[in-house]
Order: sequence, then C-alpha cells, then structure tokens
Amino acid sequence: MTDQALHSKAFNQAIAEDLLIGSHCLVCGNISIPQRQICPNCHSDQIERIQSNGRGTLATFTVIYIPPTSMAEAGYNAKNPYCVGIVALEEGPRISAQIIGMDLSDPETIKIGLPLKQTSVVRGEGESAKKFLAFEPA
Ligand SMILES: [Zn+2]
Repeated sequence: MTDQALHSKAFNQAIAEDLLIGSHCLVCGNISIPQRQICPNCHSDQIERIQSNGRGTLATFTVIYIPPTSMAEAGYNAKNPYCVGIVALEEGPRISAQIIGMDLSDPETIKIGLPLKQTSVVRGEGESAKKFLAFEPA
C-alpha cells in the first residue's frame, strides 16, 4: 500500500471509532485533517497525530438529488436527497462530509456558519455496512 492509502485506512479506522484524526506539524504548526505524513505547508516530516474535537461550522454545502452509484445504492435519489458540506473545523482545516439533520425540503433554511458537530452515518447493510464521517447541527 502507498503511504496515502495507509493514511486513508488509519483515517477510516478512526472514523469507525467516531474519531477524527489529523496531523500537526512540529516545524510550522500546520494542522491537516485527514492526517498527512508530510506537511503540505513546509514539507517537513516532523509531524504528530492529533485528534479533532469534531466541532466546526458549515462553510458551504450542496444538496445532491442525482447521486453517484455508491450513494444511489445507499438509498439516495431525487426524492430522498442528501446534503454534502464543507465544514470549517475549529482546528482550522476544512473537510468534506455528509451533513445530516437538515430540512432538505427547503434548502434555503440551511445557513452558512451553522455550528456543527461530528457524527457518523452507516451506509450499506450487513457485511458491507460501513461507517462514514458526517456532521449534524451542534
Ligand atoms: Zn509544516
């Protein structure tokens, strides 16, 4: 596996435990979530693992009515849309995730800057059930 794949695996394992992990650069202080092995700011490999407090605000969002195959298989469609947002985490980084607990029948009610907290959604059933990062109103 490549380093990035290993990091992705560690990130997904953390999500399964409801943890959001990242990296903190000991040289320049940059914080990346998901974690990086090399600092994207100064290219140092002097990094430590950190855990996000899972809190942030909604920076932008999209309501998806025509889902990609994986989401269609999870039961989403034009009558059952879902919301994907970019969450500005308190630690600084922004992360893309499904946003739940919104009134998708009236997307105008979803406000930028809304305080959010980390949660998760399970997609798939039985053996193929998998937990994914999501956010909900705090
Ligand atoms: Zn750095």
